[in-house]
Amino acid sequence: MANKASSATNSNLIPGATGDWEVVIGMEVHAQVNSRAKLFSGASTQFGGEPNDHVSLVDAAMPGMLPVINKECVAQAIRTGLGLKAQINLKSVFDRKNYFYPDLPQGYQISQYKQPIVGEGEIEIEIDGGAKTVGIERLHLEQDAGKSIHDQHPEFSYVDLNRSGVALMEIVSRPDLRSAKEAQAYVTKLRTILRYLGTCDGDMEKGNLRADVNVSVRRPGDEFGTRCEIKNVNSIRFIGQAVEVEARRQIDIIEDGGTIDQETRLFDSAKGETRSMRSKEEAHDYRYFPDPDLLPLEFSQSYVDELAKDLPELPDEKKARLVGDFGLTDYDASVLVAERERADFFEAAAKGRDGKQTANFVINELLGRLNKEGHDLADSPVSAEQIGGIVDLISNGTISGKIAKDLFEIVWSEGGDPAEIVDKRGMKQVTDTGAIEKAVDEVIVANPDKVEAVKAKPSMIGWFVGQVMKASGGKANPKAVNDILKKKLGVE
Ligand code: ADP
Ligand code: MG
Repeated sequence: MANKASSATNSNLIPGATGDWEVVIGMEVHAQVNSRAKLFSGASTQFGGEPNDHVSLVDAAMPGMLPVINKECVAQAIRTGLGLKAQINLKSVFDRKNYFYPDLPQGYQISQYKQPIVGEGEIEIEIDGGAKTVGIERLHLEQDAGKSIHDQHPEFSYVDLNRSGVALMEIVSRPDLRSAKEAQAYVTKLRTILRYLGTCDGDMEKGNLRADVNVSVRRPGDEFGTRCEIKNVNSIRFIGQAVEVEARRQIDIIEDGGTIDQETRLFDSAKGETRSMRSKEEAHDYRYFPDPDLLPLEFSQSYVDELAKDLPELPDEKKARLVGDFGLTDYDASVLVAERERADFFEAAAKGRDGKQTANFVINELLGRLNKEGHDLADSPVSAEQIGGIVDLISNGTISGKIAKDLFEIVWSEGGDPAEIVDKRGMKQVTDTGAIEKAVDEVIVANPDKVEAVKAKPSMIGWFVGQVMKASGGKANPKAVNDILKKKLGVE
């Protein structure tokens, strides 16, 4: 019974054959730094190009080549740390992480181990209408490796070093997440923050943001269980699926009397399962040590302060401002701040207008339509100015909400000034009571049985409103129609 009581208070619990379980998740996200050049060389970070087009002598690890830190990558890491409300370490150290792989020509990856550039911070996520703070353990800078290509020719393996040396930020969360949904919300929010900051484009399809998902299960209230790390999950949807199938796998093993081995696993999205890659025994010993080619990374607090001054408004602050200044609901504000371009668009459209009305139109009509067509806001055929124009016509009673939808369709496919379109096509709302009365009378005369029925059931007036609206081609002012109908039918 104790389990029942706890499931009532914690909707995240997963039922097992022998009672409820809780999943515990911590994330290690690799985010490619937005920067033209790599972390320790001047080679381009551009996506695409022929294999090995963007490779300097440093990236290819030619003997005698020395790394030189790219200041812009350091600034980006600091900005990100500030955006995560994190401690910025004025002194940090680059270490060599030693392992052998053909796509790692140096034989080691330059990373940060004991002294990362950014320490503890936090991210707030929204989950089922509530807020939850997720701890950030650290953020460090490191190089990406190249890419091995095995499947182009059966007898050969190829190596493409274009990515070799590209700067990554590894952002490590505390094991604070408790469901697949929370894990997805966390990565989504982190990606939003990175995009606002302009420090990573967050493009998961290109591999510019990828997540290692650490999963364990326990009985509610128990100590943490042994975790497995699922490597390189590359979409928000897969993160959710990977957590769910991995938690289920671990629960089944424990309920069958087994134990969980700490291991690194892969998520196979086609099969919907995780598979072992290597166990703890096979784990690498990286023999970390400070890279003798690089001095410790040091900068002043005033440099950090300079960067802090130029930080853009971040999603949480923007949301609070939209709620405060425009009277938006929490939900509408969240939808709008999820992308910076969206919030900017909304603000441009809402300037000097009814914020709620504008938000409604942007979210329900414009975003709904863009989503349906698979378009981004950047390719929207309807501008913020045009949306503002439509909202004006609704606000001043020139058109009804229903006609506004038709108008939106016209502006979407043909363009043009909303007010002019309404003028030219005679879409103005009929507020002339004489015309409305005439339409009402016609409907009443044609439907004596309904007139009788509405006296017993006043809610049927909706049917009459519908008929009159239809007869007016949607142009009658619905409020006027309602008032006149009530008077003529004698219902309240
Ligand atoms: P390592 O240095 O071996 O990668 P860390 O202790 O730094 O291990 O943890 C790596 C990630 O694993 C972090 O995101 C952390 O939150 C997460 N983690 C640690 N313990 C657990 C656990 N018991 N269950 C789930 N995630 C965990
Ligand atoms: Mg790790």
